[in-house]
Parts: sequence; structure tokens; C-alpha cells
Amino acid sequence: MNKTLKETYNSLLDSLKDQNIPEIELRMLLCEVNGIEDMSSFYLKNNEPVKDEELFQSYLARLLSGEPVQYIINKAYFYGSTFYVDQNVLIPRMETEELVQAALKEIKSHYPNPKVIDIGTGSGCIIISLAKNTFGTYAGIEISRPAIEIAKKNAELLKANINFYESDLLQETIKRKERYDIIIGNPPYIINKKEIDKRTIEYEPKNALYPDKDVYEFYKDLLLQSRLVLNENGMIMLEIGYDMKDKLEAIAKDVYPNKNVEFIKDINDKYRIIKIR
Ligand code: GLN
Repeated sequence: MNKTLKETYNSLLDSLKDQNIPEIELRMLLCEVNGIEDMSSFYLKNNEPVKDEELFQSYLARLLSGEPVQYIINKAYFYGSTFYVDQNVLIPRMETEELVQAALKEIKSHYPNPKVIDIGTGSGCIIISLAKNTFGTYAGIEISRPAIEIAKKNAELLKANINFYESDLLQETIKRKERYDIIIGNPPYIINKKEIDKRTIEYEPKNALYPDKDVYEFYKDLLLQSRLVLNENGMIMLEIGYDMKDKLEAIAKDVYPNKNVEFIKDINDKYRIIKIR
């Protein structure tokens, strides 16, 4: 008879502490192996035997070697939904939930039935969350083919109607002469690798983390392109690095002299969202 979830969990707690792995990640693996969908029932069900010991050991080895738990179980929780993820897409972050929340607030007060486009959609977490919470028309664009396939899969799983297509920034959108009321996105903006978790650098897609040029040039290109796509009275909302406000403010005011440029703080009191409206 296999050990129970509880026995397995308790016997591993100490070694996890040594390796700096949060306990919740171990519970995530055990729940996955036993098909427990609602993690909060782990403690109610922890007298069950581990269903597949071999599978659990292989998951555990991957976790201990540094692989992010979301890639091991192919799941990431974001804004109340579970998204399929693998190494082709960035793991959705809590900061990005704040971006979604801020966008929803704007949509609800200013944009009935908006046309929304998400640049660098990755897993599709942003645009799918918006589509599930508002009425409008939605598109997600991405330079990575494999990522688009994942975004499509997530939209299907979560029953969201979104048009995904391949595009380097907004180039394809401009070619197609499409127009949008809202442009949103979480671009690659990492400058200093030293500030980033080793697991992120090793496992997450490079083109989701770093721009292929100077980060401010990158945002500037994006904003310049957006002028050909944004409807009058439209809004742009982008996630930014915590120390990018001043330079981006100057760039945004230059590209959009007639719009308001604002920055929104995250729960850690850092400016993490630029809003141009
Ligand atoms: N839009 C996706 C997310 O926020 C992917 C972003 C990215 O790859 N930089 O998670």
C-alpha cells in the first residue's frame, strides 16, 4: 500500500525547507497526482494513499531540480481560472492580475462593448480574463507560434471567444488595418537579470522576459505602432518594470501629446502599470 498524502507530505517538509521550496508547491504536486482539483480540500483528503507513487517521484525530482511547479503540472491559476502552461509561455503573474483588474475598471466605466487587443498574449491569460468579464470583441497577438497554440487551447478550455494570430508587435494588425479601443499587454521588460529568480531565467521563454533591443526603444516602437491601431478615445494599458516610470512618462507624452499619461501602483506601492487615455 502506498503512503498516504499526509505521510508523504510530512516526511518531505524538512528537505523542502533546505531547498527553499514553498510547502504549497508540494501540495500542488500531491493534489495533481491524486486528481484533487480544489487544493483547499488537501487537508480533508490527506488520508488517501498517493495514487501513483512513480509519477509523484518524477514530479518531485523535477521540482527539486528547480523546475517551476506550474510547468510540472501544466497549470497556472490566474484571475479565478486555471490556464494550461508549458515552457513555451510565461507563467502568469499576480502583478498581471492587477493589470487585468485595472483594465476591467476602465472598461466598465468608459468602454461599453470595446474592441480589445492583447500584445504578446503568451498563455492568453490577460485577454481571456477580460473576455470572461466583459462584453466586447477580443484579439490576442504573439510572435511565438507555439504560444499562440497554447492561448487558443486556453480560450477553448475557458470558453472565451478570441481571435489569436501571429504578429511581431502590432505589425500584422497594422497590415490588416484593424482598429481597437483598448491595447493591453505585459511586454518583456527585464533589464537586470540579477533581480530575477534563477528558476525564471532558466525555464521561462527568453522572448517573454527580455526585449530584443533597449527596453525603452521597445516600448517606444510599440507606442508608435499603436497610433495606427488605436481608435480615437482609445486607451493603452501596459505592465512596466518597477523603475521605468520616469523615462516611459516622457516617451508616452511625446508619442501621445493629447492624451493623459498615468501610472498605477501595485500592492507593493510600486508603479507597475502605464495607462494612456
Ligand atoms: N500576456 C502574458 C502574461 O502576461 C505573456 C506576457 C509575456 O510573455 N511577456 O502572462
